Amino acid sequence: MKRVQRQQSRKSFRVWMVIIILLALFEAALHLFGFAGIDDFMGALLDGNLAAGAVAPGPTEGTLEVHVLDVGQGDCILIRGSDKTILVDASVSDAAPGILSYLRKLGVDGIDILINTHPHNDHFGGMRAVMDGMPTARVLLAPIPEELTPTTVSFEKLVTYLGKHQIPTAEARVGDTYDLGGGGVLTIVGPQKTYDDLNNSSLVCRVDFGRHSFLLTGDMEAKAEKDLLASGVPLRADVLKVGHHGSNTSSSRDFLKAVDPDYAVISCGADNDYGHPHDEVLERLRSRGIPIYRTDLDGAAVFVTDGDQLSVSTAK
Ligand SMILES: [Zn+2]
Repeated sequence: MKRVQRQQSRKSFRVWMVIIILLALFEAALHLFGFAGIDDFMGALLDGNLAAGAVAPGPTEGTLEVHVLDVGQGDCILIRGSDKTILVDASVSDAAPGILSYLRKLGVDGIDILINTHPHNDHFGGMRAVMDGMPTARVLLAPIPEELTPTTVSFEKLVTYLGKHQIPTAEARVGDTYDLGGGGVLTIVGPQKTYDDLNNSSLVCRVDFGRHSFLLTGDMEAKAEKDLLASGVPLRADVLKVGHHGSNTSSSRDFLKAVDPDYAVISCGADNDYGHPHDEVLERLRSRGIPIYRTDLDGAAVFVTDGDQLSVSTAK
């Protein structure tokens, strides 16, 4: 009788040991995928972050920087990985000297990829002057339907420039990825469909580095946001470059809920003609408790991450 009891207790001891080891392995696996622990994992699960498609972080080396430049009423975002420098948009032509001096001050001496989210002047207007001032290895454009391709003189000059200087130029496609070095990756996640307007046709870029992610949405509006949500691509990000300069056409509630950013950055000019950012958008961000950085008030917003920690500063 005693022996049987002892065997049983030994057996249950072994079962408990296996359970403890399995729990420890599970916890270790959670850390590997960037969760602080089981509470963090369950929190993400309940928040729907996993359902929204959080990206499992890979190992990183060095740092990754994302600068949302102060370029007046337009967009210009610098992404510096350990191997690659990418510029997303180049605002209007008047902003180009400021963009070049900002890049030079940082020691940037060339652009690996210049991405134009969509062919509106406040996003491509400064491209020629920037390429004139800094060697640019290649250019990526949004896939725009023939009938929407601008016929403006400034856009035609850009197309002529790219041909004349033989700068490799391609249309980016959803799913394309670009290695930034050190484990950083830029992924094209939108547009998911073809639209009959340029704003919704904006390229949407996601940057992942370790535990941290950035979502740059060009001037995408609510229609494309809805399609992006429905597509199931990973949207959760630490930093959101708010769509369309904070216009009420963008940043729908459902979209903000899915991205669930820790920081929002709005690129807009002081006293601009459009009233950007719109109060409704500021309110939607504030109601979620998201700190807002505005280039018109704060200057450039600079994010630096080592893959684990993320810091933010501003520079006028
Ligand atoms: Zn714009």
